[in-house]
Amino acid sequence: MAIKKILKYGEPSLREPSKEVHKVSKKIAELVQDLFDTMYTFNGVGLAAPQIGVNLRVYVIDASTKDNPMKPLVFINPKIIKKSGAIIEEEGCLSFPEAYTPVRRYKNVKVKAQDINGRTFVLDATDGSLLARAIQHEYDHLEGILFIDHCVNRFEADEMLKKHNLPPVEEDKLLEEPELEAELKNND
Ligand code: ZN
Repeated sequence: MAIKKILKYGEPSLREPSKEVHKVSKKIAELVQDLFDTMYTFNGVGLAAPQIGVNLRVYVIDASTKDNPMKPLVFINPKIIKKSGAIIEEEGCLSFPEAYTPVRRYKNVKVKAQDINGRTFVLDATDGSLLARAIQHEYDHLEGILFIDHCVNRFEADEMLKKHNLPPVEEDKLLEEPELEAELKNND
């Protein structure tokens, strides 16, 4: 059990794709415990292994709110197998302390992953819920993608990053997301 240092935006390893876990070993169980300990210490909704300097395909989420307690979840080797709808919501990240900006996300996702016992499970998260968005946010970390890459307005995002003494938006990383854009237009 250990509280780890969270890597901040600008750290190159946050941009590296993470590797598959081949065996859900004792080492992975320790990594998961460290992720929970660190996430709860810093009041996060989710935390991915690369954020504590381990480039493996593992993340944890606890999307509980005051009115809606939920089970803490472990995702090992996750795959998003279905996605639909679109939503714009403000998001933050433990690697971007105090910084929030609106981003585009799918409303509904179906994810397949292994749990802490190595058993495969499938989970549906719908309605643009905190869980649905966290699954996408944390999944991105395993690909070296950061929430800021989904920002709706890069100029506003830049201003916000500057205010929090963080590096600017990386222009070559910005995502176009025509599919989400089309969905959002349909919503209007
Ligand atoms: Zn994050």
